[in-house]
Amino acid sequence: MKLAERMNRLGTETAFEILAKAQKLEAQGMDIIHLEIGEPDFPTPENITNAGKKALDDGYTSYNPSPGFSDLREAIASEISSSRAIDANSENVIVTPGGKPIMFFAIMALIDRGDEVLYPNPGFPIYESMIQFCGGTAVPMRLYPDKDFGIDINEVNSQITDKTKMIIINSPNNPCGSILSKTDLEALANIAKKHDLIVLSDEIYIRLLFEGQYQSITMFPDMLERTIILDGFSKTYAMTGWRLGYGLFPDNLVEPISRLITNSVSCTASFSQMAAIEAIKGSQSESNKMVAEFKARRDIIVSGLNSIPGIECPVPKGAFYAFPNVEKTGMSSQEFASNLLSETGVALLDGESFGQYGKGHIRISFANSRENLSEAINRISKFVNK
Ligand code: PLP
Repeated sequence: MKLAERMNRLGTETAFEILAKAQKLEAQGMDIIHLEIGEPDFPTPENITNAGKKALDDGYTSYNPSPGFSDLREAIASEISSSRAIDANSENVIVTPGGKPIMFFAIMALIDRGDEVLYPNPGFPIYESMIQFCGGTAVPMRLYPDKDFGIDINEVNSQITDKTKMIIINSPNNPCGSILSKTDLEALANIAKKHDLIVLSDEIYIRLLFEGQYQSITMFPDMLERTIILDGFSKTYAMTGWRLGYGLFPDNLVEPISRLITNSVSCTASFSQMAAIEAIKGSQSESNKMVAEFKARRDIIVSGLNSIPGIECPVPKGAFYAFPNVEKTGMSSQEFASNLLSETGVALLDGESFGQYGKGHIRISFANSRENLSEAINRISKFVNK
């Protein structure tokens, strides 16, 4: 069977491939430590699960409006308004099965063949994949380790052409664990306004912040009307399998994006949405505990990695990823990741899975127990020193 040509332009997310490979080794009896997948290892907080169960009992098992239940959209709008200090309207909120469809639909709705889109590199691999799938040209916006994974604004300016349509940003960043400084955000906002660009701001890790105050690009004047905020419940509330995400869209995108939903998934699961209302309005104590635990684990992983000769690990400010440089071990990042898994059972990702500028790095998800992280450090240390 011959696939459509566009399928050649669709990439993937290596985390899912390495997870499958590691699970295969596990089934063969190997003791695996999973540091490859970006998923909280906590259960969904009980109050949220109970709200989901009650919703099932109450009959929330049918279709609902494509952009989501109005109660949830209102709850999300007030959450976005208070976390970003902006004035978000519930009519501009669209609920989707996970945050990923927001990228998919936004790029699908806006990018024509030949349009150029700047995306963070190293960065979440689905951005590049989706831009290319939709016929756009993916232009890597390089993040520099020596600038705390910030951008070179002169370089970004030089990458803008009359075909540039969109800039994608992601802060806190996967895989770097970095946040974009206010200076970088402001410079990007000015570029977007000067060249009439749309910004897709992936803020899915907003609440997983270990230092400082959260800053969204929408804080700058006139940015709300040209920014799509992507956010969701997967990371903050350990709800990856509930498939719950959302976007805040400028007015003229609400109808086209809702139409894309009607044409594809119809709507987001009704009982998941009821659980989401509880996630936003109910107690935040479990979610806050998770953030505190991730911070403690970050400290274990960073100090452990930095004690190994040849590994240099910057301190992540948010999300649950460390992105150390391993070049001085004499191994490429791909050799490092692949041999580490087959020889020691520690599964992690090579930096190039996040774009060419991830070369020389590996990504470690510290969404795993303190014991497993310490054991992983022991195994990595023996592997590097052998
Ligand atoms: N954005 C980033 C940067 C991510 O790392 C992820 C998940 O790994 C997502 C979006 C999408 O998550 P979900 O579709 O589970 O909401």
